[in-house]
Amino acid sequence: NHYMYNRVKTADEIINIRDSGKILGSTLRLLQQRAVPGITTRELDQIAASELKAHGATGPFLGYNGFKGVLCVSVNNEIVHGVPGLRQLEDGDIVGLDFGVKYSGMITDGAITVAVGTITPRVQRLLTATEEALAEGIAMVRAGARIGDISHAIEQRLKRDRLGIIEDMSGHGVGHELHEDPLILNFGKAGRGPKLEAGMTIAIEPMATLGTKHIYLADDDWTILSTDGSWGAQFEHTVLVTVDGAEILT
Ligand code: MG
Repeated sequence: NHYMYNRVKTADEIINIRDSGKILGSTLRLLQQRAVPGITTRELDQIAASELKAHGATGPFLGYNGFKGVLCVSVNNEIVHGVPGLRQLEDGDIVGLDFGVKYSGMITDGAITVAVGTITPRVQRLLTATEEALAEGIAMVRAGARIGDISHAIEQRLKRDRLGIIEDMSGHGVGHELHEDPLILNFGKAGRGPKLEAGMTIAIEPMATLGTKHIYLADDDWTILSTDGSWGAQFEHTVLVTVDGAEILT
């Protein structure tokens, strides 16, 4: 568990986690191009798996609490943790692609939500606002800032578009393990919570819907859905805390 490790990474660990993050970022960009009508969510998972193999990396999601895949693929009203399967993407869908990479012992975590074909302006606003919320959260990161500063910035951006903020899911420390301290909520008060230190690596991941903030677990015991059927988005980066800001690793 996360108490086995210091949250502040060593210089060597930072070199390795940068490499991990590069593999993650390039794979998500490839998956974005391949997320077209007709492709199945399992095919996207297979593309991600072959990218991992090509880079000599492994997928920390695979087997995590029994998860069957290296990639979470969540379509439309599926908010997060969708299991790859035979579902075909359709024109007008949005698909969340949440990916983990382990390379040279270091884990990174990142996600994008992308349009499949042509989406409506309303759904595009969901994607834009959630991606901007991630950027606003990252903008608060620097040594000495508090976790609450990130949470508050994310909440403010999501509220501007009156989105449902998923309060039951959160960001987290990452690096040696997929989920380390601290927890990073997507809402909260500035100036509160643990203080960031240079060398910490954290995954920030706002999740929001066009409707409710309430979610439930599907019968597959993995997929998280919105209770009102509204569509949701997730964007996530692993970032390194530096003395005066953040270095986006993914
Ligand atoms: Mg995460």
